[in-house]
Amino acid sequence: MSTIEHSLQSSAIAEADPRVWEIVRAEERRQQQTIELIASENHVSRAVLEAVGSVFTNKYAEGYPGKRYYGGCANMDAVEELARQRAKQLFGCDHVNVQPHSGSQANAAVLLAALQPGDTVLSLDLAHGGHLSHGLKVNISGLLYHIVSYGVDRKTEQLDMSEIRRLAREHRPKLIISGASAYPRTIDFDAFSEIAAEVGAEHMADIAHIAGLVATGLHPSPVPTASFVTTTTHKTLRGPRGGMILCKEAWAKKIDSRIFPGTQGGPLMHVIVGKAVAFGEALDAGFKRYQQRILDNARALAEALRRAGNRIVSGGTDTHLMLVDLRPSYPNVSGRDAEGWLEQACIITNKNMIPFDERKPTETSGLRIGTPAATTRGLGVAEMKTTAGWIDDVLRSGGDAAVIERVRGDVHSLCEQFPIP
Ligand SMILES: *Cc1c(COP(=O)(O)O)cnc(C)c1O
Repeated sequence: MSTIEHSLQSSAIAEADPRVWEIVRAEERRQQQTIELIASENHVSRAVLEAVGSVFTNKYAEGYPGKRYYGGCANMDAVEELARQRAKQLFGCDHVNVQPHSGSQANAAVLLAALQPGDTVLSLDLAHGGHLSHGLKVNISGLLYHIVSYGVDRKTEQLDMSEIRRLAREHRPKLIISGASAYPRTIDFDAFSEIAAEVGAEHMADIAHIAGLVATGLHPSPVPTASFVTTTTHKTLRGPRGGMILCKEAWAKKIDSRIFPGTQGGPLMHVIVGKAVAFGEALDAGFKRYQQRILDNARALAEALRRAGNRIVSGGTDTHLMLVDLRPSYPNVSGRDAEGWLEQACIITNKNMIPFDERKPTETSGLRIGTPAATTRGLGVAEMKTTAGWIDDVLRSGGDAAVIERVRGDVHSLCEQFPIP
C-alpha cells in the first residue's frame, strides 16, 4: 500500500517537474547503491516519509495545542499532543517540546532559557567531538556566551570527570553541556548532573546522536537528573529531520516560550506528524532489537578494522559510532582523502577531527563511521566484517582506481541483496 502511495506521490513530481524528478530519482538510486556509514544519518520508514509529505505542510499552527494563533488547528492539536505523549512515554520526562526545527534550534532555545548573554558555559571542545551549537565562536552559542571547553584525556581519549569537575569549580559556569557528535564511549550523565549541582549550574544533556539508544535503555538516560535534554529526531531515533527538548516541569513554560515566539514562528507540522509516527515506531518492541543490532554492528566493525591494523580512537566503541585514527597506519592519508576514496567505492563516511589532531578541520586525521543506517537496511555482523575489509582495502591501496572499482562492484552486489525498505 505505502509503496503504491509513495509512487503516486512521486509520479506527481515526475509529471509536474521532470528536472526535479530526475534529481530525486538520482538520490534514491544513490542511497540504494551505497553503504551509508555516516553516524548521524538513517533511512526512515515509508510511513515517516509519507507523514512528512502529507497535507500538514499546508497549515500554520503558531502557538501550542489549545493555544494557537490561527483557526482550523484541531488536527494540528491532535497530532502534536500525540507526538508529545509518545515522546514522554519513550523518555519518561516531565515536559516535552516537539517543535524545534532542528537539534541546533533546540539547543539555542535552551541557552536562551537558562542564560543571560555573557554567562559562562562549560562544554565539550569541538575538536574532541563536541557540536557547533555547544559554543563554536560563530554560532549563536559562541556569539552570546562565554565558552569554556573540556576535552578528552590525552591517554585514554575518554572524558575525565575529575578534570571536568575541576574546570567547573574553577570557572563556575551557569550551564554545563554534556553530549557529543563524535564520542564513541558511554557518557556518565549522572556525574555531569552532580558536578552541575555542586557548582550551582544547570545541566543540559544533548543526546542528538544516541537518542535511540537512550530511549531503549541501551545507554544510560540523562532524563532523571538533567534540567534539559535536547535531541535530534533523525539520527539513531530514525524519525524525520528535526529537534526536540525534554525538560523538568519547572522549566516547561520558559522552554516553550524560547522556542515560540523566542526563536521560531510556525511549527513544521508535517514534520511533527513524522515525529509522531517515528515515536510510535520507537515504542514498538522491534525498535529495541534494532538498537541492539546497531551496537552489535558497531562493535563488529570496530573490531574488524582494529584487527586489520587500524587504530580506533579510545580503543573501541560503546555506541553506534567509532573514530578511526588514520595516522599510525596511513601517515600520508588525511580524513579528506579517505572520505573521497571510500565515496568513489560507494561507502559513505565522513572525515572527522580526532582528539589532539594536528591537521586542519578541512583535512583531519580521522574518519567517523557509524552503523544506524546500514543496520536499518538489514546489514548484520557478517556484512560489517566484509565492509571493514573493503574499507581497509581502499585505504591500504592509497586510493588505487582498480581496487576502488572492484570494491564498488562488491558494494553494489551487497546493496542489491539488502534493499532499503
Ligand atoms: C547533530 C547534532 C545536533 C543538531 O543537529 P542539527 O543539524 O541542527 O539538527 C546537535 N547536537 C549534537 C551533539 C549533534 O550531534
